[in-house]
Amino acid sequence: MLIADIIRSKGSDVVTASPNDTVADLAGLLAEHRIGAVVVSGDGVTIDGIVSERDVVRAIPTRGADLISVKVSEIMTREVVTCTPKQTVVQLADLMTQHRFRHLPVVENDALVAIISIGDIVKARTALLEDERDQLIDYVRQ
Ligand code: AMP
Repeated sequence: MLIADIIRSKGSDVVTASPNDTVADLAGLLAEHRIGAVVVSGDGVTIDGIVSERDVVRAIPTRGADLISVKVSEIMTREVVTCTPKQTVVQLADLMTQHRFRHLPVVENDALVAIISIGDIVKARTALLEDERDQLIDYVRQ
């Protein structure tokens, strides 16, 4: 199964934050959309970084209560690993395991087109395994 197949069913909405947004703004976005990470982009197309709830938690020991007014650009990850719609679900599962993160922005022709979370990958792999199991049961019963 390709990432393009997942995008077809879940859609290509990507929630983005501006690098100048504060951590309070970020928390509002994560809560409003019930998500764990947003892509940081000044123009909504080019990726400047990615910031997840983990970055917020990790910054608390050093920034303390002032953290809520810190800019997202100060806590985001700048080296973003991305994928393309032509990659497979298994390839993304491997990438997420290798890098220990749960989100992968999808890029096509240098533009941000979607984001895939570990939840999307688990759902797709479970559906694939269930299909295979049903086919095997049908085969054995013939
Ligand atoms: P996550 O597990 O996705 O909440 O993210 C854990 C850490 O990895 C955080 O520091 C994120 O900023 C970072 N991160 C998440 N996704 C990516 C990605 N695609 N590329 C680079 N860093 C990422």
